[in-house]
Amino acid sequence: MNIDTIREIKRPTAKDEVREWRPGYAWLGGGTWLFSELQPALDTLIDLHGLNWPALQSSAAGLDIAATCRIVELHDFEGPAEWHAVPLIRLCCDSFLASFKIWNAATIGGNIVMSLPAGPMISLVSALEGRLTLWPMAGEPREVAMVDFVTGNHANVLQPGEPVRNIHLPASALKKRFAFRRASLTHLGRSAALIIGTQAGDGEFVLTLTAATPRPIQLRFATLPSAIELRDAIDTRLPGEAAYFGDVHGSAAYKRHLTHYFAEQIRAELGGK
Ligand SMILES: Cc1cc2nc3c(=O)[nH]c(=O)nc-3n(C[C@H](O)[C@H](O)[C@H](O)COP(=O)(O)OP(=O)(O)OC[C@H]3O[C@@H](n4cnc5c(N)ncnc54)[C@H](O)[C@@H]3O)c2cc1C
Repeated sequence: MNIDTIREIKRPTAKDEVREWRPGYAWLGGGTWLFSELQPALDTLIDLHGLNWPALQSSAAGLDIAATCRIVELHDFEGPAEWHAVPLIRLCCDSFLASFKIWNAATIGGNIVMSLPAGPMISLVSALEGRLTLWPMAGEPREVAMVDFVTGNHANVLQPGEPVRNIHLPASALKKRFAFRRASLTHLGRSAALIIGTQAGDGEFVLTLTAATPRPIQLRFATLPSAIELRDAIDTRLPGEAAYFGDVHGSAAYKRHLTHYFAEQIRAELGGK
């Protein structure tokens, strides 16, 4: 779509070239959302691609994903054999309501900053205990856990002009076993619930609830809980339908039902009795 309010596209090659920020500016990732609707509040886009951040860098510490890494690049990543959670990356990439045209342009950072309940990169990075590096306009870079970044539907902790620079997935999380469940009301539709469980070698179980809730919710247990313990923990954290995100992709009651149903399936798949 032509967004006819844009007067300028800046293409910095270093972050220092962007010294000030004012209303009307926006960072440009893949542009798949920015160019999908009119943006009357914007007059200037600042393209992140000229900064030339390497898309993916793996090391013994884990996987670093540049905010500008495209979905297709992450989808094609193959990690070392002991990173048992790598197949989760593809499952989450496949959870977009989107074709290859979106995959080839959309960035991981753009999906995270959109902060939509059904943002599958938010599900992935939350479940794998990822941390984001943010670059404030003034001051030192700061880090925030993915689960603390999104504060509600289309809302997050970013300050004006602060880009997401990097996403770090720790090797300790990439080594975990996982179980994944997702449902959508329509074939290839937006997720109504996307639930991921991970289990570490010492038995610790982490359940990450996304899409059904306005923001990611994470529950951590020292060992696999019983079915009743798990249900109680979910209901304590999400008391009643009001805690769920009802929209055209599923009512709050439906999403609450899916959350309980999938959580129990995940618990059983990871060995719960
Ligand atoms: C057909 C279609 C299907 C879609 N399906 C889904 C879906 O299933 N789930 C979903 O969540 N979204 C969906 N989207 C919305 C959007 O395309 C995705 O969220 C996509 O991942 C956004 O990434 P992008 O790089 O294209 O972001 P852009 O469009 O470039 O930017 C999106 C927003 O993020 C900001 N931004 C981008 N990168 C950064 C950064 N590094 N730091 C700070 N701010 C930044 C921009 O200023 C803008 O406000 C869909 C869109 C379309 C058109």
